Amino acid sequence: MIGLKKITPYVAGEQPKLSKMIKINTNENAFPPSPKVLATLKEFDGDQLRLYSSLENENLTSALSKKLGISSDCITTGNGSDDVLALAFQSFFNSEYPVVFPDITYGFYTVWCELFDIPYMEIPLDDDFHPDFTKIPEKIGGIVLANPNAPTGIVQPLSKIEELLQCHPNVVVIVDEAYIEFGGKSAVALLDKYENLYITRTFSKDASLAGLRVGYGVGNKRLTEVIKAVKNAYNPYSVDQLAEALALAATQDSDYYREMNGKIIETREWLSKEVTRIGFNVLPSATNFILAEHERVPAGEIFDFLRENHVFVRYFPNKERIANFLRISIGTREEMEVVLKLLSEFVKKIEIQEQ
Ligand SMILES: *Cc1c(COP(=O)(O)O)cnc(C)c1O
Repeated sequence: MIGLKKITPYVAGEQPKLSKMIKINTNENAFPPSPKVLATLKEFDGDQLRLYSSLENENLTSALSKKLGISSDCITTGNGSDDVLALAFQSFFNSEYPVVFPDITYGFYTVWCELFDIPYMEIPLDDDFHPDFTKIPEKIGGIVLANPNAPTGIVQPLSKIEELLQCHPNVVVIVDEAYIEFGGKSAVALLDKYENLYITRTFSKDASLAGLRVGYGVGNKRLTEVIKAVKNAYNPYSVDQLAEALALAATQDSDYYREMNGKIIETREWLSKEVTRIGFNVLPSATNFILAEHERVPAGEIFDFLRENHVFVRYFPNKERIANFLRISIGTREEMEVVLKLLSEFVKKIEIQEQ
């Protein structure tokens, strides 16, 4: 057969369906969506679904524009931020030079480059998993930076993002802010100053709506015009009526989410301290997950043990530099107490065996 695409797909964390399990492998939020979102869902008038959603999702973009203090003309919605990122790659990375991103980051970036025939170059993070921007060559086609980064959890200060924007004014710098509500400062504050900045956000992690699929991109009018043209070239109605109504309700309940995400941050700090006590090296996280490696017990063994106990975490055996790390999404405090107990038991058991 001729003409078939060759591609290595992105491998997402598994979605096991057990009635009793602790699922902390794909960074979903530990808490339910806001009660206002659930009330909107109940009251939603199904008759509306006869019609297409509004092209620009005006209700949602106008609420986001108020919340972020930017013009609606700068916002483009999408079917999850993966959709927006895929649009952004196609919209902004059309030069012959490579797009650069760190060697350890969100796995989808290489997948999209391959899918869209975009040349790319991975720049190694330093030994502490921080990006070294001096290693970026002069001739590049663009930059992608997840801030905070995944799966390391490490955040960069805005001054570093500014340095990047200033040093590479002729290419678009995409800042993927999927986890920004869990730590760090948003680059939205830099939008007026840098016309090469494009930011993506999602309702999946901080608004407990991974299953709804809503994300958005933010950039100046010129970049937004390009990305909207690409969006309208193949799927203009990617955020449906119901999704828009629910995401709008979430946008209007910042108080609820501030409280829930505050709890997640508290639990993250507590868990980081506790697992450090039993021999884990935990990277400093500004997200709703931690990346941790035990000083003696191999990650694969811990992964299997947790799995047998219906606790699902993520690890990356094929990613050399982090092959011995586990990525643990932060669940509720109760869930994480169970996880900590299991981890302590297992580490102790292995240590006794080795004596
Ligand atoms: C989860 C995640 C996304 C995208 O999530 P969507 O559910 O598609 O919005 C994007 N970037 C990073 C780094 C993520 O972890």
